[in-house]
Amino acid sequence: FNNELQRSEKMEIISELAASVAHEVRNPLQVTRGFLQLLAEKQQPSDKVYLNMALEELDRASNIITDFLTFAKPEVGKVTTLDILEEFIHIEGILIPMANLQGGKISVHIPKNLHVKGNSSKFKQAFVNIMKNSIEALHGEGNIQVWAYEENNYVTIHIKDNGEGMDEEVLSRLGEPYFSNKTKGTGLGLMVTFRIIEVMNGEIHFNSEKGVGTEVIIRFPSIQKKVDAG
Ligand code: ADP
Ligand code: MG
Repeated sequence: FNNELQRSEKMEIISELAASVAHEVRNPLQVTRGFLQLLAEKQQPSDKVYLNMALEELDRASNIITDFLTFAKPEVGKVTTLDILEEFIHIEGILIPMANLQGGKISVHIPKNLHVKGNSSKFKQAFVNIMKNSIEALHGEGNIQVWAYEENNYVTIHIKDNGEGMDEEVLSRLGEPYFSNKTKGTGLGLMVTFRIIEVMNGEIHFNSEKGVGTEVIIRFPSIQKKVDAG
């Protein structure tokens, strides 16, 4: 028991550290990228290889922050009753610029009054990671549909894309650390997502067909929120 306590204290410290590292590192990365790009414009031909390597490494660092640490917050572990619609309004706000940039349409249909227990930052991280994969799977064209409902004391959320899809081999390796099929992938996104959903006593399931698309189904125990009288 003692050991467990110490472990969770350590986890708390690590999470807090991760949050401040993500915050502190992102700005200098962006500034450095800007300067490198300026340099690239007036380069000697021989500089090109090094400049490109530097830019790629910066993008890699930036992707790790996005997949792992976007929503890391010092008040990590704070569990509250989450409103699914409210959470998805924020998630959409983050992903729509990304979808606009890379192509693809997102449509979200979530009713009011769906509630689950969890940490708001982590919930958002989990779904941003799932939906970012959908955006990337579209390769510029297609759509992502999100819908949710309550049934048998579970809240079920569907994320469906008509992107490139996956074969059995890829499906069986999802969530494995550093498993990625992308040149700039981290292979950390779904590992983080699976862990968050597990901690929330939820379940995640993938249906996918190569060349057709992917549907991700996530279920959490539902919370009946008491409505204040008056
Ligand atoms: P990353 O996105 O950095 O590659 P992830 O853990 O997020 O790492 O995803 C692992 C792999 O799973 C991806 O590289 C991709 O091959 C596959 N994948 C996940 N979601 C989808 C999806 N919606 N459509 C197609 N492939 C997917
Ligand atoms: Mg990903």
